[in-house]
Amino acid sequence: MQPETLLTVLILSLLAGLGFLALLDEFRRRRIQASASADHIFRCDQCSMIYTDDVEVERSRCPHCGRTNDIFKF
Ligand SMILES: [Zn+2]
Repeated sequence: MQPETLLTVLILSLLAGLGFLALLDEFRRRRIQASASADHIFRCDQCSMIYTDDVEVERSRCPHCGRTNDIFKF
């Protein structure tokens, strides 16, 4: 194999590696955004405060006045 060919292969594989890493980073960022928007939204019946909580919880306590509220649906 000629030295130039070796260098070309090396550069190409380096670029491919970088592109792959960028792709992985993009996927990771999208997954974080998806999980962030999957939070339940709650609206307090008592003080009308809108807040979010984990997806696992069905009812959440208002951080402002402490009243337990159901999931808010638009
Ligand atoms: Zn409240």
